Amino acid sequence: MRNIGLDVKPPRKTCEDLRCPFHGKLSIRGRLLKGTVKRLGQGQTVVVEREYLHFFPKIARYEKRRRSVHAHLPPCIPLKLGELVAVAECRPLAKTVPFVVVEKGES
Ligand SMILES: [Zn+2]
Repeated sequence: MRNIGLDVKPPRKTCEDLRCPFHGKLSIRGRLLKGTVKRLGQGQTVVVEREYLHFFPKIARYEKRRRSVHAHLPPCIPLKLGELVAVAECRPLAKTVPFVVVEKGES
């Protein structure tokens, strides 16, 4: 198993996926985001949604905002809907997929 240079716990299973940061050749660079699994697509793509607070100085209050990113899911990381995950930026794997799931969080 490769060291991907991030402080995440590696998956217990292994896989043959070339586009897996742990067992394939995919390199990680850029941002590391945390979110919940909103949609499990057919194949190996998941939609990860993040919720964040946006501050309005004029009224000194926050509003909730949401953004979704598409991420590649290597077969060695089993996921269910609604689970917390960490995704890391990588090269674009498809038109809308510039992230890969690197860790399954507790939720
Ligand atoms: Zn793997």
